[in-house]
Amino acid sequence: MRFESLMQSGDWKGEKHVPVIEAPEDVTSGEVFTVTVSVGKEIPHPNTTEHHIRWIKLFFKGEGEKFPFEIGSYEFNAHGEHVNGPNTGPAYSEPYVITKVKLTKSGTLLAMSYCNIHGLWESSKEVKVK
Ligand code: FE
Repeated sequence: MRFESLMQSGDWKGEKHVPVIEAPEDVTSGEVFTVTVSVGKEIPHPNTTEHHIRWIKLFFKGEGEKFPFEIGSYEFNAHGEHVNGPNTGPAYSEPYVITKVKLTKSGTLLAMSYCNIHGLWESSKEVKVK
């Protein structure tokens, strides 16, 4: 078995689990730009003690490169847990990341996310460096 057989994807406008990468289409080499990665942009994903997004990872693969580079790993650890029981807690972390990235080569941003009951999901977005 391989991870690729477990990885699901689709159109984020119709499938709430697909991570949404928002980044400029074109950037200048060496310029810092903002990348947002979220799950549930169009259709909100549940965020309960029993069912939530646990983490998002962001990678970059440069054009012509063989291997990806890990940009960041983001965990969401509060989902309503409380001494009084599930979903009674005061804190819920939303699966939403804003980060800063700098590239010196065109390539593809890839996001992977994990729902604790619906598994692994992926998406990608090309960024051109001028
Ligand atoms: Fe789910």
